[in-house]
Amino acid sequence: MAGLDPTDWRDIRDIGHRMLDEVFDRMEHVGEGPVWRPMPSSARQALKEGLPEKGHSLDDLYGRYLDLVVPYGVGNTHPGFMGWVHGAGTPVGMLAEMLAGGLNANCGGRDHAPIEVEREVIRWALQMVGMPQDGSGCLVTGSSMANFISVITASRAQDLSIRKEGIAGRRLVGYAATTAHGCLPRAFDLAGLGSEVLRRVPVLADHRMDVSALRDMIAEDRKAGFVPFMVAGTAGTVDCGAIDDLVAIEAVVREAGLWFHVDAAFGALACLSSRFQPQLAGIGKADSLAFDFHKWAQVPYDAGCVLVRDSRKHAAAFAQSLDYLVREERGLAAGAPWFCDFGPDLSRGFRALKVWMTLGHYGAGRMGEMVETCCDVAADLARRVERTDGLVLLAPVTLNIVCFGIDGLEDAEVSELVQDLHESGIAAPSTTKINGRLAVRAAIVNHRTTTVHTDRMLDAVIALRDERLQARTGR
Ligand SMILES: *Cc1c(COP(=O)(O)O)cnc(C)c1O
Repeated sequence: MAGLDPTDWRDIRDIGHRMLDEVFDRMEHVGEGPVWRPMPSSARQALKEGLPEKGHSLDDLYGRYLDLVVPYGVGNTHPGFMGWVHGAGTPVGMLAEMLAGGLNANCGGRDHAPIEVEREVIRWALQMVGMPQDGSGCLVTGSSMANFISVITASRAQDLSIRKEGIAGRRLVGYAATTAHGCLPRAFDLAGLGSEVLRRVPVLADHRMDVSALRDMIAEDRKAGFVPFMVAGTAGTVDCGAIDDLVAIEAVVREAGLWFHVDAAFGALACLSSRFQPQLAGIGKADSLAFDFHKWAQVPYDAGCVLVRDSRKHAAAFAQSLDYLVREERGLAAGAPWFCDFGPDLSRGFRALKVWMTLGHYGAGRMGEMVETCCDVAADLARRVERTDGLVLLAPVTLNIVCFGIDGLEDAEVSELVQDLHESGIAAPSTTKINGRLAVRAAIVNHRTTTVHTDRMLDAVIALRDERLQARTGR
């Protein structure tokens, strides 16, 4: 037998249709089971069989998938999931993933329609955040990669000879608030700059960057012989959703002649809501911007996006001239610039289709409403926290993230309480530290989450707290 296609397509067609029906069944009833359950060791063990010499039937493999994988997922499609920052996906995005799989396009470059779909999606993204339409960008795994590409682009825009000579001896420094996501210092680390080369600017009581401290730090670094090159503002911090004052940061950045980057991993989607646009003012002035379609835009994983204001600087940081990747005027090797000129990946999947279909189907209007609804659910949860004895809001609720403390419990007990909650299957918030105190953190990123689910989460938190406090007094 030569190729890998079936000789008779009927069987695979039948099982394929069954798979699709069952995916829809699960999506329709996604809120009914537990949010999450621990994977038993027997299931983990059953996944260790070694490289099979002889293949299994698809029926057999699908059965194992249903038994061993489906019940033990992350739970982020479930409305009770409110931990970290996870998108929930949509049936439309799922279908687009299937179609993209059928096409199996390589979007690293060359002249074909999937590239034009990605170009369209990048134009949409530029429009969404208010960056000029002649900017560039590409879809990547996530905001970690998008922030990394931004750091590389900014440093090469500062000094292009880094591409040949490396960064040794250049004394470059960048700036982000102490609340910036961990992928930013890691981007500095991966870029060879060093994580401590990203100076951490203190925040004010409202959890936003202290912009006058930023100005002072830049001046002091210059005096000490360092070469400041970029400042990263955050639109929607990962801990509590604060939005840095991007207008004020931009003014300092321009005055100092630096690169203005914005990490808007989930916050970028709030640009679609007129209610939140004023707080995001200045975002469209970014030289580079990182955000995720797989978070608040509900596109299935993975789909991050990097945008760069000056496409020449973006390409200057990554493009290579190689004999086996030569660009032609016509034929399949035409269509430069290619997406491989805008990041480290050469082979790239057709991520754009699921973004194009998701935003294309729901439209910017409905997406903006969904964002507002998530924020309304968060505001309702915050009000209930404030009304509940012994619970305290630990940070203002700017967007969709509620962080609260539990009086009477040590940090370790709060952490255990959240683990118990996960194991109960009722709800899945996460934790973070706010001003040194452990907070229960509910991020309403999931379009399926309503106040029914946040109420259920809070009721369970209160019950688990009361159990702990009673056990203590009973002792
Ligand atoms: C989630 C997040 C990131 C990292 O994005 P990934 O898609 O997980 O790589 C970066 N910054 C912020 C503010 C985030 O919320």
